[in-house]
Amino acid sequence: MKVVYHPRFGEVYESDPAAEVGRMEPIAKELAGFEFVRPDGANVDDVLLCHTPGHISYVQHYGSVFDMAMLAAGGAIRAAEIGYSGEGAFAAIRPPGHHASADSCWGFCFFNNIAIALAGLLEKSKIKSALVLDFDLHFGDGTANIFEAKPAVTYFHPEDGNRQAFVDHVVRFLGDHKADIIAVSAGFDRHIEDWGRLLTTDDYRTMGTVVKEFAVKNCKGRRFGVLEGGYNHAVLGKNVRAFVEGMA
Ligand SMILES: [Zn+2]
Repeated sequence: MKVVYHPRFGEVYESDPAAEVGRMEPIAKELAGFEFVRPDGANVDDVLLCHTPGHISYVQHYGSVFDMAMLAAGGAIRAAEIGYSGEGAFAAIRPPGHHASADSCWGFCFFNNIAIALAGLLEKSKIKSALVLDFDLHFGDGTANIFEAKPAVTYFHPEDGNRQAFVDHVVRFLGDHKADIIAVSAGFDRHIEDWGRLLTTDDYRTMGTVVKEFAVKNCKGRRFGVLEGGYNHAVLGKNVRAFVEGMA
């Protein structure tokens, strides 16, 4: 299991909650027991697999966001490559991506990191199918939109007001599906001490374990996760660690 991270992700590039000062350092600290890999920024060609030239130029004119968004997309690409090798990987990156559609974005997102990473594997014919588990509090409309017309990618966003039912739903869904790789939009804003006020830290560990079991059973261990939401800095690091340990 490798952690894809760059110290630059600690820089404040915007005034939204995902870009807040002090959000990334606790994650890096909690994950210190894992091997870290530093990503390069994505290329425009990588981003063009999922976004329009107009959207790319919109982000280019958005101050210091562009470089960070390209580095985040590059982090997801790197995690997908490691994940494809059969070793798990987690990209601790920001800005998040799952609210970025081909030609628009909102919700602290600019480029759709996980979609760009999966589109790269599909384009290189490394995989024919992928499953995206998005357990963030919010529906990843960008990811759903980008893959709407592409049956190769199945997008799943569990919703339930009861924590046991939520986790059971994830277990059942993964038990019923197969794919060449599993990718996780890992948002931690549904934690009991975050905006969603539902899941425990151990629930993230359980979901990580279920993701690993799916990968071992169906796709040679191919699995990776990317950070999406999660806004309570006091608990975000330990929640990420629980998930990554489960996935390892
Ligand atoms: Zn969210």
